[in-house]
Amino acid sequence: MAELRFHALKQTLERVPIYIEEKERRSSIFGANVFNESTMRQYLTKSAFNEVMDAIVKGSKIDRLVADHISTGMKEWAISKGATHYTHWFQPLTGATAEKHDAFFETIGEGASIEKFGGGELVQQEPDASSFPNGGIRNMFEARGYTAWDPTSPAFIYGTTLCIPTVFVSYTGEALDYKTPLLRALQAIDSAAVAVCKYFDKNVKKVNASLGWEQEYFLIDKALVASRPDIVATGRTLLGHSSAKGQQLDDHYFGTIPNRAMSFMRDLEHECMLLGIPVKTRHNEVAPNQFELAPIFEEANLAVDHNSLLMDLMHKTAERHHFKVLFHEKPFAGVNGSGKHNNWSLSTDTGVNLLAPGKTPMSNLQFLTFFINTIKAVHDNEELLRAAIASASNDHRLGANEAPPAIISVFIGNQLTKVLSELKNVTSGKLSPEEKTELKLNVVGKIPEIMLDNTDRNRTSPFAFTGNKFEFRAVGSKANCANPMTVLNSIVAKQLIDFKAEVDVLIDKKDMKKDDAVFNVLREYIKKSKNILFEGNGYGEAWEKEAEKRGLSNNKTTPEALKVRVSKKVIDLFEGLGVMNKIESEARYEIEMEDYVHRIQIEGRVLGDITKSRVVPTAVKYQNTLIENVKGLKEIYGATFKTVAKEQLRLIEEISSHIESINSKVDKMTEERRAANHEENIETKALAYAYKVNPMFADIRYHCDKLELLVDDELWPLTKYRELLFTN
Ligand code: ADP
Ligand code: MG
Repeated sequence: MAELRFHALKQTLERVPIYIEEKERRSSIFGANVFNESTMRQYLTKSAFNEVMDAIVKGSKIDRLVADHISTGMKEWAISKGATHYTHWFQPLTGATAEKHDAFFETIGEGASIEKFGGGELVQQEPDASSFPNGGIRNMFEARGYTAWDPTSPAFIYGTTLCIPTVFVSYTGEALDYKTPLLRALQAIDSAAVAVCKYFDKNVKKVNASLGWEQEYFLIDKALVASRPDIVATGRTLLGHSSAKGQQLDDHYFGTIPNRAMSFMRDLEHECMLLGIPVKTRHNEVAPNQFELAPIFEEANLAVDHNSLLMDLMHKTAERHHFKVLFHEKPFAGVNGSGKHNNWSLSTDTGVNLLAPGKTPMSNLQFLTFFINTIKAVHDNEELLRAAIASASNDHRLGANEAPPAIISVFIGNQLTKVLSELKNVTSGKLSPEEKTELKLNVVGKIPEIMLDNTDRNRTSPFAFTGNKFEFRAVGSKANCANPMTVLNSIVAKQLIDFKAEVDVLIDKKDMKKDDAVFNVLREYIKKSKNILFEGNGYGEAWEKEAEKRGLSNNKTTPEALKVRVSKKVIDLFEGLGVMNKIESEARYEIEMEDYVHRIQIEGRVLGDITKSRVVPTAVKYQNTLIENVKGLKEIYGATFKTVAKEQLRLIEEISSHIESINSKVDKMTEERRAANHEENIETKALAYAYKVNPMFADIRYHCDKLELLVDDELWPLTKYRELLFTN
């Protein structure tokens, strides 16, 4: 067997699970490495503690002198836990997390030294980070980028480093990261939602967006991954014939977790507990070697940080267990890909989940207000929501008959569909007392506190209401949740602002009572956004046709999907809310388009390389064996050899024909790539990659995969699907 493949398999088969002992209860170690509320009480003066809490709850600024106290307390705590370094931890637009470590250690002359960490170092840093994507922002102004402390996400110790969550902005204040726009969007939805809540409860002072993500991933032995240059370079297999057994038998889904994977999970969960990531659920997913991990939901900013941290933690923990974690949305053709459902809701500081039906008609009217406004927001911005989940890798998943389509729609279930259709008929203008009583008692009041609608389990919807939250399912497994969360919270914030303005007009100018006005506006919203509601099979072809009739967008590739981000409507939306200015929107568009181009470019190069330097030479080698065989048969049988060598001759020709196709197609793909690279305009370039380069991959793969079946298994150089997916 090809040496690399053989050794990879041998190593994998010899592995034994690492025993993970959990000595303490999880609840007793939860958050042990986090500078959380209880630790702060211990290490900070009362006034410093109060100031941090105010910053967290009210978003107030922290005084520079107080920052000195905070940093000292933080340092003492960190050193007591064995930390030697500190870092500003941020999320640049590369998709990974970034950190640059500095030691607490400092010399103070005459051979003496101390551990030091001042307020200045806590609050702001200037990492030399000029190589992060910035979409031209820093070229235009100054090359400097700053990181600034985000007190709403607690500092934590990772290894021996104190990590301080920060935003990353340019000298002129433009966001260069995922967190900055998210924080601004969360602020926007807070104030917009509080204003609407006041119709129902004057005591509400703060509304938090919550996020509970569900992370899917593949776990593959690291030796097997190392034997596949395509996975190493691109995160997915660019070729490989599907295994005879895939996921047909559904025997992996929710099955017993394999021992090595279980050890990995327990180790990971232990680390999560220390870091205060409240992981709760683990199980096998549909595809072989595919798993899912989900935490208890948290405030959205913290949840986003925790997801980024978790992804990093997973890579590091996997290393100890000789695994590689694949976060790519589609690492293997023919079996399911991975997503990251984003469960989202809004909750008040009075403890009310605004997307959960309540006990009284009034609380249900509040629920309906937020529910219908969310639907309207998605209706008006479906294309932007699609853009928020666009990436080269997620393109493989959307619409691939296993994942939500590239069409955004909202699923709400039977019960709520009925409620909306009744509300649609509410009288225009002031409501009679009888109608209002009837509505409150029999429509709004009849919404059960707990939704027991079985049809809630429609798995094909990209955006589904699941009883007390919406579940945005089309998010990619590799994505940073900040982007979809920024978009979702922004569009709902904008919608709530518009809603309040419309209701206020009816109250002030038309002399309507508050609930008459609310019913009137909601009625119109239901009518206007009916096209986004879809309860059927989202995977079916019929839906594509229907969606087209309804005027919904169906942007299948990332370059098409992203375009809306630089439309006037979207730029104005973000600018109006203070989430992103025009420069930031345009920069992000450019960065994402470039990322798309680079990903496809790398895939093209790797594919060309593997096919020419591995697949074709192996096929030739096998063909030579066949030729030798035919020569031998000729020697023995003389003139009649063709009858006995018939199959061999056919194989020789078949191999030649595949080699010919591969070579010509790889050459064509390379030419297309060159042509695309010459395009100056990023849109033209990305479209060329999407429509000229990318489609050639499948053609090339087809012939390689055919060769895989023809060529002697002993010679085949690439670890096969059955080995990648079923060895553990
Ligand atoms: P599944 O989609 O796997 O069937 P669920 O629908 O029960 O599972 O979703 C569970 C996820 O929803 C968990 O990650 C949980 O934290 C999250 N979740 C539950 N309530 C909320 C909420 N109010 N806001 C945000 N996320 C929530
Ligand atoms: Mg889910």
